Amino acid sequence: MAEDAGVYKTLLESTNAIPWKLDWPDLRFAYIGPQIESLLGWTQDSWKTVEDWATRMHPDDRERTVNFCVAQSQAGMDHEADYRALTRDGAYVWIRDVVHVTRNDAGEVTSLVGFMFDISERKQAEVELLRLHKELEALSLTDALTEIANRRLFDQRLDVEWNDSRRSGKPLSLLIVDIDWFKQYNDLYGHPAGDACLKQIAGVLQGAARRSRDVAARLGGDEFGLLLPDTDAATAQALARELEAAVTALQIPHGFDDAGEWVSISIGVDTQVAGDANDASGFVDHTNRMLYAAKRKPRAA
Ligand code: GH3
Ligand code: MG
Repeated sequence: MAEDAGVYKTLLESTNAIPWKLDWPDLRFAYIGPQIESLLGWTQDSWKTVEDWATRMHPDDRERTVNFCVAQSQAGMDHEADYRALTRDGAYVWIRDVVHVTRNDAGEVTSLVGFMFDISERKQAEVELLRLHKELEALSLTDALTEIANRRLFDQRLDVEWNDSRRSGKPLSLLIVDIDWFKQYNDLYGHPAGDACLKQIAGVLQGAARRSRDVAARLGGDEFGLLLPDTDAATAQALARELEAAVTALQIPHGFDDAGEWVSISIGVDTQVAGDANDASGFVDHTNRMLYAAKRKPRAA
């Protein structure tokens, strides 16, 4: 048996995981593996009580971790906790502590036995993954050319605002904007110039989305949407006239005979309060019909 104990000690002290044992009645460390010193810098014999463990922890993790571990231990439950342990030179290392609770025949907790694992690399990978995920999400909701919202984000926000209008009874306005004679613009000036024109017009629309819940989006091709929560019909119509003027004021030359001197836009406008008799897709359809009606009008020179 004595020989076995030596074998176990060698095994325990040669793993990457750091073994430890804490006596529950007095909350003192009965043992901690010497590897702790190479991981955190604190010597093996500096780990005396549970206080040494709790104080050598990131302040933001301390309360949550200590409360959780104490509650689990008191309940006699094995558990795991991730936290940042303080190193002797003031840095932090992510640790996963895996804890087994031992009890005597009477069922009373006698000690905690655990392993600390260095999970810094895994945590770093998690943080990086989260960052990539957010970046991907942002990209998947952004139009690549104009860098304003894309149709996906527009549809999501329309859904949210439609439901909000139903609850609040407030009017929701929608502008659908389409560039006039844009095919001819491309034909005359080339696709890269067309791209530059789309970007300029997107900039004007983005500038018109003044409130935090307003959404300017490229719906596809030369078509854009401007969603305006809590906006009445008169305000929406006035904004449409402003936008038409702002785009013409960009003075992007358009040499096609029927186009007038500068690139212009047409806008369909609608305002609805969401209710039982209408729905969001009907709202978009109707706004599109208003756009076609606007296109049929003679274009301003
Ligand atoms: P209308 O006045 O009736 O709106 O006519 P239009 O020529 O603007 O409309 P149409 O829908 O026929 O043409 C839209 C054009 O938009 C066709 C397509 O070549 C162009 N387009 C769509 N996406 C892009 C893009 O990303 N870049 C460029 N440069 N052109 C695009
Ligand atoms: Mg067009």
